[in-house]
Amino acid sequence: SMQVDYQAILDAIAEEVAPLMRQGRVADYIPSLAQVPLAQFGMCVVTLDGRYYAVGAADKRFSIQSISKLFALTLAFRQLGDGLWERVGREPSGNPFNSLVQLENEAGKPRNPFINAGALAVTDVLCSHSVNAHLAILHFLRRLSGRNDINFDHEVAESEAATGHRNAAMANFMKSFGRIQSPVEVLLDSYFHQCSIAMSCRELATAALFLANRGVVPQSGEHLLTASEAKRLCAVLLTCGTYDAAGDFAYRVGLPAKSGVGGGIVAVVPGELAVCVWSPGLDANGNSLAGGMALERFTTLAGNSIF
Ligand code: GLN
Repeated sequence: SMQVDYQAILDAIAEEVAPLMRQGRVADYIPSLAQVPLAQFGMCVVTLDGRYYAVGAADKRFSIQSISKLFALTLAFRQLGDGLWERVGREPSGNPFNSLVQLENEAGKPRNPFINAGALAVTDVLCSHSVNAHLAILHFLRRLSGRNDINFDHEVAESEAATGHRNAAMANFMKSFGRIQSPVEVLLDSYFHQCSIAMSCRELATAALFLANRGVVPQSGEHLLTASEAKRLCAVLLTCGTYDAAGDFAYRVGLPAKSGVGGGIVAVVPGELAVCVWSPGLDANGNSLAGGMALERFTTLAGNSIF
């Protein structure tokens, strides 16, 4: 296949999206996110054959927030296989990531694993299998990225807990339908800690490579998922990974992707690469504004959308 000059593409994108960096709004529901300076941008591409391309603040760690939901889901899917879908659905929600409105109509079963309610259901699965679900996720991310100094940001985790009334409401509501097995406090503590993990674009792109590689970690040859399971998780990422903007992302970017309110977005081009972009300014749906544009330009310039 034709060699794509990813470095030239990343350099061009960084220049193009620079004016957008200041137009978003940083998440302001907790002080440690509200204090992050707006005008920052980083992006990193990692190919399956081990080449790295980076621009801007690609090595600066940020709060991964909901991107953790992708790795929690991978662990839970490994444990339960298709049985997982009895605990959580796989339909786009068309509602904000922290919405409660669909839970009542669907008897406490969240629409998908990437909205908060669904992530709580997934974390509950992990809590039933290990004493410290958030440690399992942390160790998984360290192993996948090859970086043992990746850690929780305890200040973020504490503020999440102090302000997480909606997440607490969801967990309690789901538990009232008999859908949560762990004590709610244990579940919330795990969820807030997984959201608080800090990683860079380079580390997150590296960690996501197995999804682009039919479930096999290219660096180690470890089989995390079958090819079929990796394909299925990519489908859920495409339809649900960017919340109620998933349709717009599929239209503009055309890649399976997961965003977080820390301003990161991870995406994969199956068979080729993983990419992560970070810029803390968010759009109205809670997705990075410059990050979404950067990915749109990426698939346009590289011609590598899955469509
Ligand atoms: N910690 C955030 C929350 O639970 C994560 C949300 C997100 O990144 N979309 O509200």
